[in-house]
Amino acid sequence: MDFRAFDLFAFIRAGEPASGTVSLTDMPRLLAEQAADAPADANRQFRWQMQGAVHEEATAGQSAQQRLFVDLQVDGSIWLQCQRCLKAYEQPLPVHTRLEVMRSEAEADAAPLDDDEADVIVGSRNFDLIAQIEDELLLALPVSPRHAVCPDEVLPAEEEKKPSPFAVLANLKTKH
Ligand SMILES: [Zn+2]
Repeated sequence: MDFRAFDLFAFIRAGEPASGTVSLTDMPRLLAEQAADAPADANRQFRWQMQGAVHEEATAGQSAQQRLFVDLQVDGSIWLQCQRCLKAYEQPLPVHTRLEVMRSEAEADAAPLDDDEADVIVGSRNFDLIAQIEDELLLALPVSPRHAVCPDEVLPAEEEKKPSPFAVLANLKTKH
C-alpha cells in the first residue's frame, strides 16, 4: 500500500492495522526544525502504527450514524536546538492520538468543537498518511525546546531547588 495516497475510508472499514517507518528526510516541514548541529549518525526513522474503527451511533428518531476513527501512534525523536545553551539535544516525539475522520470539509466544519475525544480530520480516497504523521509530529514539538538539564550548567544554587531524580522516580512509582 502506498501510504502517500490510499483510500482511508476503505482502510478504516477493513479494520486491519497497518504499520511502517518514515524518515525525517521525507518530512520537510519537520526536518526544518532539526538543529543544525544534530549528529550525522542520529536515528531519523519514525515508527508508526495505525488502526481504523467504525462506531455505530443510534440517535433518537434517526437511523444509526456511522462515525469513522483512526488511532495513530508514532514513535521517534528529533534533534532540536536547546534555547538555553544553544546545543543540540534529542527530543523524543511520541504521538498517540485518535482522529475522527470526516467525509468532507463541510462535515468537518459542522462537527462540534467541544468534542475532546478526538481531533477532526477530513478523509480522502487519496489520503496522505505521511503528511498527517508530519502534522502530528509538528504539533508534538515543544513550544520551548530545551535540555532537562543543560550539559554545562553548573549552578549549585539552582540545582538545590530542583527535586532529585530519585524523588521524582519515587513519585512515579507510587502513582502506579
Ligand atoms: Zn541546553
